[in-house]
Amino acid sequence: MGTKGLILCVCQGTCPSFDKMNFFEILNRARREKLIDWVALHPQLCADDGDIYLKESLKGSEVSKLYVAGCDPTMQRKMFRDAFKQAGFDGAQHIGIEIRNMDTDAAYDAIKKAITSVE
Ligand code: SF4
Repeated sequence: MGTKGLILCVCQGTCPSFDKMNFFEILNRARREKLIDWVALHPQLCADDGDIYLKESLKGSEVSKLYVAGCDPTMQRKMFRDAFKQAGFDGAQHIGIEIRNMDTDAAYDAIKKAITSVE
């Protein structure tokens, strides 16, 4: 069956698009409400080490759905395509969620909506 995971990606935590939200509160709400099986926070998945992170964490894993909350889903798809391919992860199981310029409540609601609408 596999696991469902949520990664928050936050443009190094320094970009103004992310300064109205509390990253850990969002992740803790997702954990408390058991929206997903596991959570993670990455500063910059589109950097070289982000590729390595995706590749190493997905390779041979049982992840069945990967939610990435951060920038535009179309941008995410392009930026992560190679890492997914190298990991043998089906890119169709990646769901990007746009949360830029939102506050904590709005970002959490967008994430919750995306996760609950897929099930
Ligand atoms: S993947 Fe998107 S959200 Fe993450 S650092 Fe790059 S531009 Fe920002």
